[in-house]
Amino acid sequence: MPVEPSLQQGFHHGRSRLWTRRLVAWGEGLGECLYPSHCGLCLQPGPPVCAGCREELPQLPAPCPTCALPLPVSGVCPECLRHPPALDALHAGWAYAWPLDQLILAYKHGADVRAERILAALVERVATTARETDGTEQPLRPDVVLPVPLHPERLRERGFNQSEYLARRVARVLGVVLDCDGLRRIRVTGSQQALGRQARRRNVKGAFAWTGPSLTGRRVLVVDDVATTGATLSALVGVLRQAGAERVEGLVLARA
Ligand SMILES: [Zn+2]
Ligand SMILES: [Zn+2]
Repeated sequence: MPVEPSLQQGFHHGRSRLWTRRLVAWGEGLGECLYPSHCGLCLQPGPPVCAGCREELPQLPAPCPTCALPLPVSGVCPECLRHPPALDALHAGWAYAWPLDQLILAYKHGADVRAERILAALVERVATTARETDGTEQPLRPDVVLPVPLHPERLRERGFNQSEYLARRVARVLGVVLDCDGLRRIRVTGSQQALGRQARRRNVKGAFAWTGPSLTGRRVLVVDDVATTGATLSALVGVLRQAGAERVEGLVLARA
């Protein structure tokens, strides 16, 4: 099949960006060897995000267990009570506000390696501190971790899928299997940014398909960078349940 010129350009653009990232990552790796590790936000020696900087990130007080909406008191939000969401739980680390929003954008659209290092540390933190909302309060124990996939066309444009990178970190820190191929985005969807709740649902309806092995009786954790109305996550829950998933939870860095 002939490739449209615009796609080909996108492909090469994405590829060169990927190589730039690899080169910068190599340089960073070398830097790590020469200088002790430091906090990516305040540059003090220590872990990739120090405890002080982490505490200053935009908090989500009393998040609703199924949509992560911050509430004045803990419990399920009125919207989730009226219309129980498709996801069994949504674990979100922080609110989508400064500086996390800028870091996520810098990583997603600029492949910023410093942002990547910070977000990796933060998503691992979410995965290890989140608790099951099924009444057990246990640490997360999914059977399989999946990234929200990009459509192949978008992947060629961008050169990488930020959700896949985050999912890889989550799977590793939880010691769980990662599946990056089973869930496919079969339809190109326009940006969700300017759309309202209903329009977002329509935009992602039928956008996903499951092509992997049966998920019968399995607990699935889907990882993405940001959840806004949860429309994207909800759209893929249906196909995962059809594939047999017993429980489907979402994990995101930030809730918008
Ligand atoms: Zn710091
Ligand atoms: Zn809710």
